[in-house]
Amino acid sequence: MAKTKGKATKERAPKRGGPTEVPVNVVNILGKLYAIEQKVPQVHEEKWFGFADETGQRIVYTSEQGPDQCRDTVLHEIVHILEQQLVCGLKEREVSVLATGLYQIMRDNPELMEWILEPL
Ligand SMILES: [Zn+2]
Repeated sequence: MAKTKGKATKERAPKRGGPTEVPVNVVNILGKLYAIEQKVPQVHEEKWFGFADETGQRIVYTSEQGPDQCRDTVLHEIVHILEQQLVCGLKEREVSVLATGLYQIMRDNPELMEWILEPL
């Protein structure tokens, strides 16, 4: 699960970039389809960004985050599912570092990403 760090504040991060709603509702991870669902957190819940439900084959992310954090969160939960499917023993910190690092590399290198993703 991706959780917030530190104390929650009433200040909101400035929004930039695209929307916080994921434009697709399913992701194929190693041949299994996972639903991507947005949830509005309840007032009494501990602050959270998202979670991966491998058994239910879904990724849930909260609506209470900016566009950069939302993308980082969904990628973070995808890495959790990869870790679970491949049984590679990553700890939470390693999942976070990989997801945030990969997200930043993808954002900062669009031409490389285009090359990697071009149809062969
Ligand atoms: Zn996590």
